[in-house]
Order: sequence, then structure tokens, then C-alpha cells
Amino acid sequence: MPEPATALIDKHGRHIDYVRLSLTDRCDFRCVYCMSEEMTFLPRKQILSLEEIYKVAAAFTELGVNKIRLTGGEPLVRNNVMSLIENIGRLPGLDELLLTTNGSQLKKMAGPLRDAGVNRINISLDSLNAEKFKAMTRTGKLEQVLKGVETAVAAGFDSIRLNSVILRGVNDHEIIDLLKYAIGLGINIAFIEEMPLGEISDHERMDTMVSNEDVKKKILEHYAIRPIDMNTAGPSRYYEIEGEQSKVGFISPVSHNFCESCNRVRVTVEGRLLLCLGNEYSTDLRQLLREQPENTELLKQTIIEAMDIKPLRHYFYDEEQPQIVRFMNMTGG
Ligand code: SAM
Ligand code: SF4
Repeated sequence: MPEPATALIDKHGRHIDYVRLSLTDRCDFRCVYCMSEEMTFLPRKQILSLEEIYKVAAAFTELGVNKIRLTGGEPLVRNNVMSLIENIGRLPGLDELLLTTNGSQLKKMAGPLRDAGVNRINISLDSLNAEKFKAMTRTGKLEQVLKGVETAVAAGFDSIRLNSVILRGVNDHEIIDLLKYAIGLGINIAFIEEMPLGEISDHERMDTMVSNEDVKKKILEHYAIRPIDMNTAGPSRYYEIEGEQSKVGFISPVSHNFCESCNRVRVTVEGRLLLCLGNEYSTDLRQLLREQPENTELLKQTIIEAMDIKPLRHYFYDEEQPQIVRFMNMTGG
């Protein structure tokens, strides 16, 4: 019997057909808004094995999920990750396999990723100035990432998008340069508002958060842009740029609420099925995967039942809600 379009429908009638899987909490960078300088990563036995992650991906696709994004941490630093990506790429029912990466490994991996069936990738890039890039990522090398971006462009993905988190007084003067860089390569770019995920040491987030309205105003001083409907059912709102192939997106989780059309859930590398980015509603899949590794039906049933606790919306800065203590690298960006 074929499954319906998706078996995952929450109490608010939202159809869940998109899953973001975190492949690792580790990363070769330490971006100032994402991690603290000294991070403790999870012990190996607490994280899902590649085989367990594959089982989770397979269960979701059997339930009607047709879009999976691989993220982290830095997904491409996990050992033997290509074999997992190839296997996920072959899952029946999967229409789109997406990846979010910091770009550090793309020079060698972009081609194999494309061959494994990855359709689209997002590459994070917050600065085009080598020193600033180093300061923002603490360990990253700009040149390596730019080579990765160019290799990815040559590899022929269906689309590539740069992700830029803009921080006031840090890289807000680079908005137009970043946009021009994307336009020059014929790829898209999204500006992301900083979210209050995880306790960080470098700055007070409320001081550095730049609203996307401000970013848009800056862009309008240089380019004519017009909203378009790209129907991503997510927090991104896209604009076309007059005379250019590239689109510019604005991801505004803080200043705009996009929850009514939310079609996604996340699975952390510890096997926690997170129903919402902005709070702690979750179901543990790891215990089940370890106690009954062959019981695919129970795994699917647990996922279906978890949909009941998907909250209507998130509140990042609402004092009545618990503060989110998860770091973005734990959540899966
Ligand atoms: N390491 C990969 C990367 O950097 O693209 C994938 C994981 S990362 C957590 C995914 C995205 O989340 C990146 O574009 C990053 O810039 C963004 N991000 C991380 N922490 C954030 C925060 N506190 N607010 C907004 N975006 C954040
Ligand atoms: Fe690593 Fe991505 Fe977080 Fe930067 S944003 S520290 S690259 S996981």
C-alpha cells in the first residue's frame, strides 16, 4: 500500500515532509555566534552511529518525508560521512537531499556530494575579509572556503546558497560585498538574523542582532529587489534582484514568526527528535534504536506520535518561556 503524501501531520494540521538531520555536533570552526571558544563535544557512545542515522532517515522517508537536509556541527567532518550520504541519496521517495556546510571540505568533497545525489547546498560565509573571517570563525581560513564555494559552483548543483549571519559592528558593513560576490557567481544568498541559541561568551546577542529589515534597507540603496514566491514553507523570504540571476533571501526567525507554515522537524546527533527549533519539545529515538534496532515499525510509530507535541510556535525572547540552552551546533542548523 503506498503511504499518503505524508503520514506526519501535527495537531495544528501542518504536514511534515522535511527533516533536518544533524550528522555531528563537532566542527572545525568555532563561529562566535554559534559556539563558545571552549566547547565540549559529546562522547562517541552518545551520538548516533552512521547506521542509526540511516535508519532514522529511512523511517522518515517511509512516512512520506521527501526532503532531507544534512547539517551539524559541520556534517562533512564526520568520519566516513560520504557512505552515509550515498545511502541516504538512494532512499526511495526522497525528492531532495540538501546539505548545509561551512565550506571547509568542499574543495575535495563537492564533486562526490553531487554524485551522491545532493541537489542543493547552503554554504556559510559571513565575511570576505580574511582577518574578519578568522575572527568570526575563530579557526577558519577564508581562502579554503572560497575555493570550496568555487568548486561547488563548478560541480553543478541545482542551486547553491550562501548563508550570512550579520552581526552589528562586526560584519554589517559587508552586506553589499557578500551580495556582489554571490551575484558574481550566479548563486543565491540569504541573510540570517542571529538567534539566541546557546550561551556564548563573545558578545551580548541583543547588541549585535541586526534585523533583516535593516539589511533589506541597505540592499535597496544599491539594488532593485522584488519579493517572489519560492514556496519554501520556511523562514526564508526570497527576492529577485533586477537584472541578475541570483536571489536574495532573508531568514528572520527572531523578527518574524513563520511557525504557521512550519513543515519541518529536526533530529539531533544524539537521536533527539526536536519538534521545534525554538524550544525543547522532543522525543528520544536513540534508546529505541539501541534497544530494538530491528523494530522499524516501532520507530515509525514513535515518530508519528511525536507529531502531537509539535508546538504551534516558538518564542525566542519571551520571558515566560524557558530559555533555549541548546547550541546551534547541537540543534542542527
Ligand atoms: N557547520 C555548517 C555551517 O556552518 O553551515 C552547518 C551547521 S550551522 C549550525 C548552520 C547554519 O546556522 C549556519 O549558516 C550558521 O551560520 C547558522 N547559525 C549558527 N548559529 C546561529 C545563531 N545563533 N543564529 C543564527 N544562525 C546561526
Ligand atoms: Fe561550525 Fe557551522 Fe557552528 Fe560555524 S556555524 S561553528 S561552521 S557548526
